[in-house]
Amino acid sequence: MRIGLGIDAHAFAPADARRHLVLGGVQVPYERGLAGHSDADVLTHAIADAVLGALRAGDIGKHFPDTDPVYKDVVSLTLLRQVGELAQAQGFTVKDVDSVIIAQEPKLAPYREEMRANLAAALGISVEQVGVKATTTEWLGFEGRREGISAHAVALLEKTEQTGGRELRGAISTPEVALVERSEQAG
Ligand SMILES: [Zn+2]
Repeated sequence: MRIGLGIDAHAFAPADARRHLVLGGVQVPYERGLAGHSDADVLTHAIADAVLGALRAGDIGKHFPDTDPVYKDVVSLTLLRQVGELAQAQGFTVKDVDSVIIAQEPKLAPYREEMRANLAAALGISVEQVGVKATTTEWLGFEGRREGISAHAVALLEKTEQTGGRELRGAISTPEVALVERSEQAG
């Protein structure tokens, strides 16, 4: 089992930038969107970073550099899908994800289930395996001053590829051999 933690934050773009507020792949109606090279989906970025953290594979900045024009305004769910595929390629299965969006505004509860469904689909797992919560900071900090939104996420990954099984059998056989040797010496 591996655990990964991901934290991300984005500032709001000015209202005249006409950016959509995208969280967990859902366009949430609000007067301002978040600023960023991609769609600035702070929740999806935190979850992608949590999965990459569990893989010990760096962060999304390393895999999808914001200097690369390919990722301009990219839908972040497609990046999360690629991170899920990377996990699979390394023999890992995403077992569980939990996350918190920290935002003073807008109210996010009505969009939670749609976010969970989007995130689960991107990772190829069930909705029950993805938790999304939202909290305010009681007007404290940059989230409380409505300057931006942050998100925190954890991901639990299990190595399910056959190589993991071989390692386990090897570890079990060693003490058995040692036991036999000791009993022979005793006899
Ligand atoms: Zn981000």
